[in-house]
Amino acid sequence: MKLLFERSRKGRREVLLPPVSDVYTLDEKYLRKKTLHLPELSEVDIDRNYTELAKQCHGVNDGFYPLGSCTMKYNPSVNEELASLKGFTDIHPLEEEEDVQGALEVLYKAEELLKEITGMDAMTLSPAAGAHGEYTGLLLIRKYLQEKGESERVNIIVPDSAHGTNPASAVMAGFKVVNIPSNEEGGVDLEALRKAVGKDTAGLMLTNPNTLGLFDPNILEITKIVHEAGGLCYYDGANLNAVMGRVRPGDMGFDCVHLNLHKTFSTPHGGGGPGSGPVGCKGFLQDYLPGRRVEKREDGYHFFKPVKTMGQVRSFYGNFTVVVKALAYILTLGKEGIRESSGKAVLNANYMMHRMKEDYTVAYDTTCMHEFVLSLEDLKKKTGVSAMDIAKASLDYGMHPATMYFPLIVHEALMFEPAETEDKDTIDEAVRIYHELYQKAFEDPDYLHNAPHTCMIGRPDETEAARNPILRYTFEDE
Ligand SMILES: *Cc1c(COP(=O)(O)O)cnc(C)c1O
Repeated sequence: MKLLFERSRKGRREVLLPPVSDVYTLDEKYLRKKTLHLPELSEVDIDRNYTELAKQCHGVNDGFYPLGSCTMKYNPSVNEELASLKGFTDIHPLEEEEDVQGALEVLYKAEELLKEITGMDAMTLSPAAGAHGEYTGLLLIRKYLQEKGESERVNIIVPDSAHGTNPASAVMAGFKVVNIPSNEEGGVDLEALRKAVGKDTAGLMLTNPNTLGLFDPNILEITKIVHEAGGLCYYDGANLNAVMGRVRPGDMGFDCVHLNLHKTFSTPHGGGGPGSGPVGCKGFLQDYLPGRRVEKREDGYHFFKPVKTMGQVRSFYGNFTVVVKALAYILTLGKEGIRESSGKAVLNANYMMHRMKEDYTVAYDTTCMHEFVLSLEDLKKKTGVSAMDIAKASLDYGMHPATMYFPLIVHEALMFEPAETEDKDTIDEAVRIYHELYQKAFEDPDYLHNAPHTCMIGRPDETEAARNPILRYTFEDE
């Protein structure tokens, strides 16, 4: 595919501006020494360029996207439309409270509903993503411990099945990470946890259901062990899609939680678009929350600063239109709809897992939640075909690959999350394709080693692409 710069032709324009009469000459020192390379294109050139780029991408709107841990579900278009209403997009964060009461009401109502869904007492909508929420939640814990005079509590316990952002956020927030192993069933090893807690424990970070798609049945015991040692419990709520409307982190014993509105609550993601990672907490932590929150008084909605606030973690009030979409999503589904959607997410994952078992090996063969993990270790031993080969080959069938080589504790892992918005036909078709790929592994492994066969780019050097990406076009005269 040609780049905009390669399509450029000197003098090609779309808009012709009338000649200027007044010319202001800038001081010489402000002028460029070289002419700026701007592509010269017509409107149709630009349109075709972006349409071609869009066609090279795979989104939920193109087909199945079972990327485990990412909840790539279909987001209803109506929520996009609501978030594009001029009353939301044309306001400025510095406007007077009384002129933007509707927007404040959105923030207030979203907080209220998310509090109810998570079982928390207070919520901030400031953080811009899941990892940012983790960081914020950990700063909250840190500030609380400092105020209490317990700064010696520096350890955050993280199970080995955790999402990579958990230990990273803990370190960024100034804590030390203590890893504990999972037990045979993929849950937290209670003995290891009992050994790990002590006077230096600040808290535990946990995802439940975890990144293996398993709900930890010992959760109440786990949070009790941490609390008895004087630590706090942090819930990574990025996987709330599996449990919303059914169980609440607040009732499981967690003190603090972040959500991923861009996973669970209807904002398209992947590709770096705006996200939102609200952080909820129990009452004893709420005075430390960041930024400004909204409260409802007799004369309307008003901003207030939590009394001992940690300060800002994001400009103004976070990614507002993502919150609009979340509110629209929650209100259109309603209490029953929210519950039904998590139920179907779990049903779809279990159905797909059972069908995949006809060929593949499930890493933890038990009822899963919203996602499940296969181990292709055995297939690799027998055929030489790896999880990577199978994932790459699935691209030729118009599917997005499953998550590869994660979680780290499963060898040759492929992790599937079909999500509730897929129907049985789509899942059956995916299973049929994976069955075909399984057979191909025995018949023609080289075909799979060389897959994909239909994509523009097949097997980039991933380390090179991640460490030394070429993001800028180089001109001949540079
Ligand atoms: C996606 C995810 C995160 C990180 O969220 P981002 O918005 O990508 O920063 C954290 N934990 C879990 C379990 C996740 O699935």
